[in-house]
Amino acid sequence: MKEWYRGPIYDWHLDFYLPADSPDAFECFDPERIANEITASGANLVVIFALNQHGYAYYPSRIAPPHPKLKGIDYTGELVRAFKKRNVHVFTYVNYMNIDLREKHSDWWQRYRDGSMIIEEGWGVPCPNGPIKEYMSNIVREIAKNYETEGFFFDMYGFNRGGCYCQNCRNAFKSLYGFDLPDKEDWDNEIWRKFVEFRYLSAYNTMREIRDAAKEINPNLLWITHCSPLDSWHRATGFYLSPKLDDILHTEVSPRYGKYRWTPGEMGKLLIATSKGKPCIVNLADLHVYWDKPKGWFYFPNSATQLKLCTSEIVANGCWPSIYMEPYPNTIHNPYTNEGIKEAFSLARKFEPYLISETIKSVALHFSKSSYDFFEDYIYSFRGMYKALLEAHIPFDIVTDEDIIEGRITDYTLLILSNSASTSEEVNKGLTRYVNDGRSILATYATSLYTTQRQKREDFGLKEILGVSYKKELGPAYLSVDPPLNDVLTLSPIIAHKIIEVGIENNTEILGRIISPSPTDLSPFTYVSAPSRPTKIPSITKKGRVIYCSSDIGYSFMKAGYIDHKNLVANIVNLLVGEKLPIKVKAPTTLDVVLREQEGKILIHLINLTTNQVVEDAGCSSDIYDIIPLYEIEIELCRKDITKIYKASDNQELPYRVEGDKVVLKIPELKIYEIVVCEVNEKRPAF
Ligand SMILES: [Zn+2]
Repeated sequence: MKEWYRGPIYDWHLDFYLPADSPDAFECFDPERIANEITASGANLVVIFALNQHGYAYYPSRIAPPHPKLKGIDYTGELVRAFKKRNVHVFTYVNYMNIDLREKHSDWWQRYRDGSMIIEEGWGVPCPNGPIKEYMSNIVREIAKNYETEGFFFDMYGFNRGGCYCQNCRNAFKSLYGFDLPDKEDWDNEIWRKFVEFRYLSAYNTMREIRDAAKEINPNLLWITHCSPLDSWHRATGFYLSPKLDDILHTEVSPRYGKYRWTPGEMGKLLIATSKGKPCIVNLADLHVYWDKPKGWFYFPNSATQLKLCTSEIVANGCWPSIYMEPYPNTIHNPYTNEGIKEAFSLARKFEPYLISETIKSVALHFSKSSYDFFEDYIYSFRGMYKALLEAHIPFDIVTDEDIIEGRITDYTLLILSNSASTSEEVNKGLTRYVNDGRSILATYATSLYTTQRQKREDFGLKEILGVSYKKELGPAYLSVDPPLNDVLTLSPIIAHKIIEVGIENNTEILGRIISPSPTDLSPFTYVSAPSRPTKIPSITKKGRVIYCSSDIGYSFMKAGYIDHKNLVANIVNLLVGEKLPIKVKAPTTLDVVLREQEGKILIHLINLTTNQVVEDAGCSSDIYDIIPLYEIEIELCRKDITKIYKASDNQELPYRVEGDKVVLKIPELKIYEIVVCEVNEKRPAF
């Protein structure tokens, strides 16, 4: 029997963060009403509060203090029963923070080096090496024994920045490694590096212990540690913890407040890359704020349009949607958000037969976890490249170090290393094999200049395949680009915030040069009169199938938002693998294209990110309420054995013509989301 949690999943996350003195808490609690509202949205999984972040149980616990306003109500139990009756899957929520127990159990808390408790404006959490692990294990055991919950959602777990120097950590480190904890951050010091390893190890071991306590009661229980592949080494969860411990990977994103329209899709791609085939949920969690009047935590309500757009990004990238809902403390939901969730789940359900699918592999973007851990700016190098590929309509997947080492990248024709500065010897070997096997690489800036222990190498680890050697760091500079890479670029020199001076091998071509260093830092983009003649210093080089760009194009695209960066990336991709790209799309930059397949079908997901203006002046929280349709999207699919093309939304056939080895078609109008289904002759498509 197929396990239900492999999908489809439509998850309504019923948040309910009530402080002890929230005046009208639980006043209108009616489990039947709540279960009816949530079931009507089309949700098939609901997460119910059992222990909140203040440390209060929402059921009559013998371990945790029950919430003072419950007055005997079994909130958790009644809701679990109400949802089970309606055949909705139920997980119970437990939070690790236990804020109101801080004074009573001060030995649970993480400590700074000076021994003081880490409060972090309320976000300080207990230490994974402290006695809280027994407490939390007993809580999940109690819930698993008393209720028909099918799983746990464990929230707010991990280490805090600046910690942890509590006595338990000091003792554990000493007994494991034989040293005292290091007193300052120093990546050249082996003890410091052991300390970082110790964090990951401690976070993993404690969460496994708590999870196993629940699974002892019921081995079929499913586990979610709520964290993110973008958690840093400070937190020490997410990337290395979740794929090993969790049955479902679950991460939240906040797509509002100046974030990107494609944030949920980016997280979807990242989660899938780390998931080892486990199901993934991306949760929409926009900004909860704490108010004193009325007392409690609240979310800004999302418009139906916003939720539909985000949900489209999530399901198009192979994940399942989850939406947070924070009722008023008296348990009444905001009807605006109720409606939005219903519309978002309905949209996903409409495409359900096409949602369990595989990506079609052609281009991959590397996410370098160690570069992310070590270099604050790395996220912009990565995201800028992500944005450029998206806007150029080049479908791509994200891959990790493991994919490179274990050879799972061989199906991709091009791998992009956007300032993947920290690489291990194994990764460098894997990349060398990849190139020697006839595939292409685009690498930028400091790629492979550091080890995964943050040690700077004397030269690029990938020197041989890049065909360049490291000389020195230059300041910000202007670049010029030679044909064919200058196609459709503007007349302006290209701005580069960060650039490395390199030497080149004899057989390395030069495709671009540095014009001159800039006297400004170029952020935001400032044009400073530059001499028109380029220097001899190369900025873009090509050796065989490998292009190296000595500036951090991704970073500059994020910081300057300059169209030439996007077009330069597209030109490089075309020069390297243009003939091998499975699809070409002509459309405005706000169209996101995701290419996937099922047996006998190629699925072209089109998500329209063209929205109403977002103005954040005046403290506006900038909701998206309008999608501007796109017209006449031109698609060239590099397959000729197509038998039928139609829209998944209404099964309406789309006319197409065969031109040589490809088919050409037009999508007359795209509102928000569509899957173009192309049926093919062979069972298994191969580009
Ligand atoms: Zn500690």
